[in-house]
Formats: sequence, structure tokens, C-alpha cells
Amino acid sequence: MASTLSILVPVYNNAAFLQELYARTAAALTESAIDFELILVNDGSRDRSWEIIRELAAADTRVKALCLSRNFGQHAAISAALEHASGDRFVLMDADLQDRPELIPQLLAELAKPGHDIVYTLKEGGEEGMFRRMTSRAFHSFVGNSTGSHAAANIGTFRAFNRSVASALLNYRERAVVYGPLMHTMGYRTAFVPVPRDARIGSSSSYTFAKRLALALQSIVSYSTLPQKLLLWTGSSICLLSIAYLVAIIVQYLLGYDGLPQGLTLLVVLVLFLIGMVMVGLGVLAAYMFLIYREILDRPRYHVQQAINLDSP
Ligand code: UDP
Ligand code: MG
Repeated sequence: MASTLSILVPVYNNAAFLQELYARTAAALTESAIDFELILVNDGSRDRSWEIIRELAAADTRVKALCLSRNFGQHAAISAALEHASGDRFVLMDADLQDRPELIPQLLAELAKPGHDIVYTLKEGGEEGMFRRMTSRAFHSFVGNSTGSHAAANIGTFRAFNRSVASALLNYRERAVVYGPLMHTMGYRTAFVPVPRDARIGSSSSYTFAKRLALALQSIVSYSTLPQKLLLWTGSSICLLSIAYLVAIIVQYLLGYDGLPQGLTLLVVLVLFLIGMVMVGLGVLAAYMFLIYREILDRPRYHVQQAINLDSP
């Protein structure tokens, strides 16, 4: 049997792009004679996305549609797509056509080379705006450094991987899944393809700055030990410094200097700083406790309300 490609696409308010996404994907893959299924997961969109997905699925059974019961977030939607995919090669793609479907055959050709399990794309262009590009790069290099995975800063969501990577991904059962940093910590043999990225047409990103910040914090807390290390190192440095300071005071006292009472400002600063440190520490602990609590509940990552062209959930 010929191998099938599963294209995983989370959809959140992307109604304007879906018809074109389908048409361009189908055209590119038919031309290259690639057998595919296009899995569109409606992640609680508030626009006409689901209606359009239903029409596409009615017209072509290669379109597999899932409608989640509400908005669960991009990564939960990706999980849903992955868990319902039946292919042996996979492509993960955004629904807003910033990733060009015409590049899929190129990614697959790279994936087919011996020794390649994951093919990442490196974004070039896309006019994201200075601030966004800078924060995005900062985030990637920070996560890369703190998880020890050293991913390139301009790595895209658009990527291809094989069955063993997909099965490995399915084994990660945590609620707080974020596929970017997760895939970088998994290992496997990777390859990179630089791709032009199209500018956003019309709609804006569904990620506000607050949402992006939340995702960054979640990735850092879930996939790195940096927060604990920071706490430990700053805490112990402050202890050492205060011991050194104490020694200095004792020496001063023994030598008969009495310059101490003027140190009130220093004292206030020190006390405030230490209270701040303790509160930061508590905050970090609380973040971990919340994550542990949420993992212990072990709730489902998403609920499927309706499925088309798929075995019922
Ligand atoms: N997305 C989703 N649920 C969300 C937010 C986004 O499924 O709550 C999907 C969205 O439909 C798109 C992908 O995640 O396919 C990336 O979102 P977007 O293009 O808005 O983000 P950006 O381009 O800023 O990375
Ligand atoms: Mg986008």
C-alpha cells in the first residue's frame, strides 16, 4: 500500500483561508502524486471556519474534520489532529497560509533522505514586524538555551516528521504540551529547510502579546529547569554576600570604626530586595504547584464534538 501523508492543521478563526488552503494543498500534492489526508481541527472558531470545513469534507473524503467543543488552544488542537491521523508521514502546518502548501513535496523529499526523522523549516521573510520577530527570536533562543536543545531562532511550526516521531509525540501525555520545545528535546535526526514565509494576509495573529507571554512562560516552566536554578543561584549568592557583609561589619567593629548607623538606606534596600526575592521564589513554586495540580487532574486535553470522514471519537 502506498504511504499516506497526514497534514495536521489547527484552525482558529481562519475561515478566509480554508478554501484556498485546501485547493493549493490538493493541487500541489496531486501534481507530485502524493496520497494525503488533510486533518482540519476546528479549535472553537467564532467565525465560519467550521461551516467551510464541513463543506470541504463533504466534497472530498481526504479532508478529515474535527470540531472541538470549545477553544482549547493551538497545541491541544495539534494533539487532536495527531491522535486522529492515520498516515505514516506527517506535516504540521498553520491554517493561515503563511506556510506555503507548495513546499510540502520539498519537505517530504528532505524527509525521505536516509537519516532524517524530522524536517524543520527556517522562516525567511514574512514581514512579521520588528517587535514580533524580536520577541519570537528571543523566546526561541531562551527556550533553546534553557532546555539545552539549541533550536534555531527562526524555526517555524511548519515541519514534517515520520511515524516514529509521531508515535513518540503521542507518548507525551502532559496537559501542558507545547510542541515546539517538546520536539526539540526529543532528539531524533533532524534536517532544516529554509523557506520563504508569506506575509500575513488580512487577518492578524490569533496570539496576543499576553497569550504569547503565557505560552513562553509555560514552555520555560514545563521544559526547562531554569526557574529553579535561577532561584537557587540568586538565593545562595545573596546568602554568601550577606555573610561577607556581616564579616565586614565585625571587622569594622573590631578595628574601632563606627560608621554603621548611616547604613539605613542600605538596610531598607536589602530588606526590600530580599522580600522581593522570597516572593519571586514563592511565585515560581506556585507555578510548579499549579502545573503539578493540573497534571494530576489528568483531564482530557480536548473534547471532540463532531468528526467527519473519521471514525467517531
Ligand atoms: N490556533 C488554534 N487555536 C488557538 C490559536 C491558534 O488552533 O487558540 C491555530 C491557528 O488557527 C493557526 C495556528 O494555530 O493555524 C497558528 O496561529 P496564528 O497563525 O494565529 O499564530 P502565529 O502566526 O502568530 O504563529
Ligand atoms: Mg500565522
